[in-house]
Amino acid sequence: MNFLSRIYCRIYQQIFHLAIPFLPYRNPKIIKLNELNTILNKENVNKLMIVTDKNLVANNILTSFLNIINIPYVIYDDVKPNPTIEAVERARDLYIKEKVTGILAIGGGSVLDLAKICLARVKKPKKSIKKMEGLLKIRKKLPPLIAVPTTAGTGSETTLAAVITDEVTKHKYPINDFSLIPHYAILEPTLTTNLPKSLTATTGLDALTHAVEAFIGHSTTRKTRKMSIEATKLIVNNLKECYYNPHDLVARENMLYAAHYAGIAFTISYVGYIHAIAHSLGGKYGVPHGLANAVIMPQVLEIYGKACYKKLAYLARISKISTAKDNKVAAKDFIDYLYKTNAELKIPKYLTMINKDDVKEMAHYAAKEANPLYPCPRLFNEQELIKIYYKIGDINE
Ligand SMILES: [Zn+2]
Repeated sequence: MNFLSRIYCRIYQQIFHLAIPFLPYRNPKIIKLNELNTILNKENVNKLMIVTDKNLVANNILTSFLNIINIPYVIYDDVKPNPTIEAVERARDLYIKEKVTGILAIGGGSVLDLAKICLARVKKPKKSIKKMEGLLKIRKKLPPLIAVPTTAGTGSETTLAAVITDEVTKHKYPINDFSLIPHYAILEPTLTTNLPKSLTATTGLDALTHAVEAFIGHSTTRKTRKMSIEATKLIVNNLKECYYNPHDLVARENMLYAAHYAGIAFTISYVGYIHAIAHSLGGKYGVPHGLANAVIMPQVLEIYGKACYKKLAYLARISKISTAKDNKVAAKDFIDYLYKTNAELKIPKYLTMINKDDVKEMAHYAAKEANPLYPCPRLFNEQELIKIYYKIGDINE
């Protein structure tokens, strides 16, 4: 990136960094399942929409909720990975038709994100989802949203972000607004024990990507550094345990909290190019978000090079991945750990679906998402991003 563009991005990021103490960040209140009716009553929800996916319904994940909810409800279960504008609009139509007054979203990131954008559209009937792309385009208090993650995970239950895909243009982009932060969250480990091994791995590595990208960026705070460190330690110590022993409830609960802490970190300190690239791949080819991040993370960290040695070394030592005193060595140990973990958890080294002809367009979208907002350790323009796509797709230039 040229000098002037870099200065512009850094000033833009610095303004947002300085504004952090004055912005209305909040965390959802973490409640227990048996408090649900009390909360619904307190929030004057007299008809509930449960947003979920068909898989969770088929696996009886909803049963414990349906058994206790004592108000009328309607279920919207047509949520697929990488939710589309059309799916949100259908959920919104049901919400309005059924005169619903709040949402209980039970599922992975796709379910939670769809529920968030659905409520934004309920409150902003004249604003299209396309016009909500980017930062602070909603600015309206939304109806009550109780988020129940069934993966650990996106941390969407605590973040101000929701990601949507335009099914026509294949453009996948985040919508960021404080009003999208859910009001309540239920972190229940038993809901995650039936996750397939591959999803346990990739969603856990998505959470690690949040922790790492928030930590190595330029807009950290004392709180977000603490959250990233805690999340990294928990993931290093519990992800493989969940993978090999899916019914270990302690490890499952630790991973839910890790994803939650990483969500708190990145909602304030942002993600970076790993996510921007992952979103473009999700939009273009439907690559699952966690899988994309898991593959991209070590490769982009390598490209950042010495710009993130010190911070990666810190994470490597605190999570006992490395004992090296030299920052460069410890940072490389961290990156090696990621490659080895990917191999162990059967995650491919490259994303071979990347077609050379699509790279320019995806690099354009990734640059548009990341610049000037994301305070990455190094800044890249479209041309530099194109090279990263070649690297992660194992494509000859
Ligand atoms: Zn993510």
